[in-house]
Amino acid sequence: ASAQSAPAGAHQLPELGYALDALEPHIDAKTMEIHHGKHHAAYVTNLNKALADRPDLQKLSVEDLLKDLSKVPEGIRTAVRNHGGGHYNHTLFWKTLKRDNRMEHPEGSLADAFGELFENKEQAVEEFTKKALAVFGSGWLWFSVDSGKKLKLESSPNQDNPLMNGRQPLFGIDLWEHAYYLRYQNRRADYVKAFGQVVNWEFIQQRWEKLTA
Ligand code: MN
Repeated sequence: ASAQSAPAGAHQLPELGYALDALEPHIDAKTMEIHHGKHHAAYVTNLNKALADRPDLQKLSVEDLLKDLSKVPEGIRTAVRNHGGGHYNHTLFWKTLKRDNRMEHPEGSLADAFGELFENKEQAVEEFTKKALAVFGSGWLWFSVDSGKKLKLESSPNQDNPLMNGRQPLFGIDLWEHAYYLRYQNRRADYVKAFGQVVNWEFIQQRWEKLTA
């Protein structure tokens, strides 16, 4: 799928930014094709449908919509929350994935922030995996940044995200079965491990620096 084939509307499906097989063997091309081209595309289509009669809301970024859902009328609020959340979450997710990363772990103030949450890298991975496995049903696990610029590990159900709770998502892992079922079936732990192999620390480091500037 491409931006050209995206539905007409205020919001557009972004390009993936790399080939569908770029994350193989950790995340397979077929999963990426369906995940981006079908699932993410559907969130965009349905967000546009929800906003079809509200040109005023069409002018807002998806981030601004999600930060304050109270300004979205009740009749379309759930649709904007689910599909707008889906659009935002996936747009960020694609950017946080990359194979053969030059950076293998966070540096500077981000490394310090991780150090405040975890004893070491092994314990961070252990805790992240444990929390990812504990998300029941469909949802996400996030590292977020709170208003005091502190790093936080939190999960969200469905397509919710930290923006809805006054925090900025730094990066998250999609824990919906559509993100891993083709290759990993019920083995979510294997998928979480694979995710760890394709974390784009360079992007995350830059995002952290922007969010905490
Ligand atoms: Mn997904």
